[in-house]
Amino acid sequence: MAASIYRSWGGFPQIDQRGEPLVWRTDPLPGAGDEEDASLLPFGNGRSYGDVCLNRGGTVLDTRALDRFIRFDREQGIIRCESGVLLAALLHLVVPAGWFLPVSPGTRYATVGGALANDVHGKNHHYAGTFGCHVTALELLRSDGSRLVCTPEENSELFGATIGGMGLTGLVTWVELQLRRVQGALLKEESVKFSNLNEFFRLSELSDGNFEYTVAWVDCVSRGDSLGRGLFARANHDSSDYTGRERSDKPSVSVPFCPPVSLVNRWSLKAFNAFYYARQRERKRVRTLHYQSFFYPLDSIGNWNRIYGPKGMLQYQCVLPGDDGRTMMHEMLSTIAGSGNGSFLAVLKVFGDKSSPGMMSFPRPGVTLALDFPNRPDVFRLLDRLDAMTREVGGAVYPAKDARMSAESFQAYFPAWREFAEHIDPGFSSSFWRRVGGEVL
Ligand SMILES: Cc1cc2nc3c(=O)[nH]c(=O)nc-3n(C[C@H](O)[C@H](O)[C@H](O)COP(=O)(O)OP(=O)(O)OC[C@H]3O[C@@H](n4cnc5c(N)ncnc54)[C@H](O)[C@@H]3O)c2cc1C
Repeated sequence: MAASIYRSWGGFPQIDQRGEPLVWRTDPLPGAGDEEDASLLPFGNGRSYGDVCLNRGGTVLDTRALDRFIRFDREQGIIRCESGVLLAALLHLVVPAGWFLPVSPGTRYATVGGALANDVHGKNHHYAGTFGCHVTALELLRSDGSRLVCTPEENSELFGATIGGMGLTGLVTWVELQLRRVQGALLKEESVKFSNLNEFFRLSELSDGNFEYTVAWVDCVSRGDSLGRGLFARANHDSSDYTGRERSDKPSVSVPFCPPVSLVNRWSLKAFNAFYYARQRERKRVRTLHYQSFFYPLDSIGNWNRIYGPKGMLQYQCVLPGDDGRTMMHEMLSTIAGSGNGSFLAVLKVFGDKSSPGMMSFPRPGVTLALDFPNRPDVFRLLDRLDAMTREVGGAVYPAKDARMSAESFQAYFPAWREFAEHIDPGFSSSFWRRVGGEVL
């Protein structure tokens, strides 16, 4: 199988690995390859930005053909499906039946297995916690051939290690999930303009009790009194039935080719951010919209990651806890704006305090910032500075978005890593884990 189809979304790093497409969930695991230290790693749909889904020199287990639904209880909203089912396909089935994903990331092109293995979060973290909070059972296939059904009660330690376990505890063949009731496909959204970071924090406090979904776009270029200005989106599912036509899952437009250099630079950033902030004239705009437009605006542009050119991009997502975290967020945004780097889409959200069953889960109470950067040498230095800030306040960086953090940083962010390592399947590994999971001398 050609190596080139197994890339992560950021396009960095680009590595050689073998791909082994899986066909039946009842089949045994394939061998890892001839090399002595070759290992296996499940691959969902490559929507992770960095190397958490990559396995240099080893084999990735391509789960995309494991896309069958196994059971759907329409009364109770409990669904069991194979791990390669895309969130988009799941929504197609359950929304007309009056159910919705309890938690969704900002792309519907992630698989159920990938969502579980990174314990993804969404705009409703303050309300519903992470994806893993709603998993009722899963089956894990280990390299010794054993199949274990894991639930919060049965094989509970492996259950906790597998949720957010980055594919390292074995192959998840199927997942069972408790869905959330909805009336239809629509949401009612308010978009509120805010002029600085303190206003963002006030809006979050005022909104989180009344709105299931809250998230903000932030202008990462503005400085001084306007530092952290942006647009705050807050929404609830709408109670009206949607009678419109079913929407397509295909992007409406696509970036047709990869330009020779990144289109994201100091000038395009400044122009886009100023335009986007000014586009909403009124302080508050209210509208009713389809779930695809609210949750997945980026999915409507196919291959948007190509705008970063052949070298790809680096995402950075951190969470900064407590009052110190809020103060540090000012410093972080100011550092990013001063660097002249940043992205068209920078996202801010305050995470709630719902804990996840996942031992290595990333979200924790605090403010989270996510944005991407073109892959350039000065960006690596900038991200090292952001890491130092994150560590100073006891925060963490999200492995699903990472391709460069040091082992030292990772182990400070995830103190449970040693306990987690005991649950790793000896036949499984990843480029990410080999980078961050060794003893720091
Ligand atoms: C536009 C965009 C928006 C995003 N928004 C968010 C967001 O809001 N919140 C968020 O949390 N994330 C977000 N992400 C990240 C994305 O949701 C996660 O990286 C997700 O895990 C990707 O799923 P995937 O199926 O593509 O898995 P991959 O990226 O292929 O793999 C992810 C991990 O899951 C493991 N894995 C995959 N399948 C299995 C399996 N069957 N058994 C065991 N392990 C498995 C892999 O080994 C790997 O470690 C976003 C990504 C994009 C591109």
